[in-house]
Amino acid sequence: MGDLLAWDKTHLWHAFTQMAEYESLIVTRGQGCWLETIDGRRLLDGVSSLWCNVHGHRHPRIDAAIKAQLDEVAHVTLLGMSAPVTIRLARRLAEISPAGLEHVFFSDSGASAVEVALKMAFQYWRQKPNPEPQRTKYLALDNAYHGDTLGSVSVGGVARFHQMFEPLLFDVLRLPQPSVDHLPAGIARGDACDYYLQQFDAALALHGHELAAVVIEPLVQCAAGMIMHPPGYLRGIRQLCTKHGVLLIADEVAVGMGRTGTMFACEQEQVSPDFLCLAKGITGGYLPLAATLTTTEIWNAFLGTYAESKTFFHGHTYGGNPLGAAAAMATLDVFEQEQTLVHLQDKIARLSKHLARLAEHPHVGSVRQCGLIAGVELVRDKATGQPFAWEEKRGFRVCAEAMRHGVWIRPLGSVVVLMPPLAVSPDELDLLCAAVEQGILVAT
Ligand code: PLP
Repeated sequence: MGDLLAWDKTHLWHAFTQMAEYESLIVTRGQGCWLETIDGRRLLDGVSSLWCNVHGHRHPRIDAAIKAQLDEVAHVTLLGMSAPVTIRLARRLAEISPAGLEHVFFSDSGASAVEVALKMAFQYWRQKPNPEPQRTKYLALDNAYHGDTLGSVSVGGVARFHQMFEPLLFDVLRLPQPSVDHLPAGIARGDACDYYLQQFDAALALHGHELAAVVIEPLVQCAAGMIMHPPGYLRGIRQLCTKHGVLLIADEVAVGMGRTGTMFACEQEQVSPDFLCLAKGITGGYLPLAATLTTTEIWNAFLGTYAESKTFFHGHTYGGNPLGAAAAMATLDVFEQEQTLVHLQDKIARLSKHLARLAEHPHVGSVRQCGLIAGVELVRDKATGQPFAWEEKRGFRVCAEAMRHGVWIRPLGSVVVLMPPLAVSPDELDLLCAAVEQGILVAT
């Protein structure tokens, strides 16, 4: 064990981690919503691995589907061939997603799903009937996070991830994040939606003709710190994109697959985007697979001969891989068979009650929830809402304390994040919130 710990700390380069400060935590088993560590601890997985584990670890149906697929074929490329399970998954995604999204491009990560949408939108304007090649720009929100490839970082707006790579990134138009909790002085909460939509309308009136697409995370900007958008904002964005003739990319990598209480966040405002990006929970958090869904209008603009250069020259070795597709099909089966979305509603209500209790703590400011997504903002001063500085690591300290109470969570700066698997039981939800409460009491 000592050998593993040493290598983990000194040779294995962990994502988004300052390796000089990394404390090793080695997981050897998962079962349901629980993780077991190499030193014999059991931890409730309060953030669904990386917001991706939907039905719990080692779900018998998903395990069996992957094993059965292994007996057939593990890898089939989508460059020039196909596999039955991949075709079935594409058809099923088209059937359950918002109306009009009838074509599916598979890749293998959330960033790639977004990258595909960005490139497809760009290329579409060049080869649609009556091309508009001047549309080369994108509009995204402040503090947005859409992944770590250069394209997805370009449309991302988190300075900490962005600044270092600035010379490599393309220019993106930005609008303020439409947060109901951080409104400018003089704007009432009830007017938040109109306020932000007016800004959006004005920006599209000015720049719409040069935009290839608008990119947003529907309902909640997750990695921005669980920033909830005002109700009606997404529908308004869709209407304004249509009015100004701009394509809409909905990044549902984090909010999709039941997380907000419906299978897709877009459903809650009856919105059909031009591109829908899915990853994370699509395979129940088992295997790398992502999808970009789009419309027949976009698809048609890419039809022609190779000589016409209308082909989408983009592809991933593991895009649509049969093992991932089998895990995704089983994940959707479990949604149906276990009525996951039906049972989820009580869990969402139970989480709300716990959050109301946490909100009373003197160092808790805004408490935000959408479905089974929650962010608890730690503040130095409750009256002014001034957050603790990122460097103070209060979020990490709360999580360290929660771990002493048997719960694994990971913060976003001074925001404590709760994103348990949708399969979490009521008792597990109680345990998660009690551990967070203990963490807040001790670490703030
Ligand atoms: N888009 C959003 C909204 C995300 O939250 C994430 C990851 O957290 C990504 C894209 C990138 O996904 P991946 O890490 O699979 O590349």
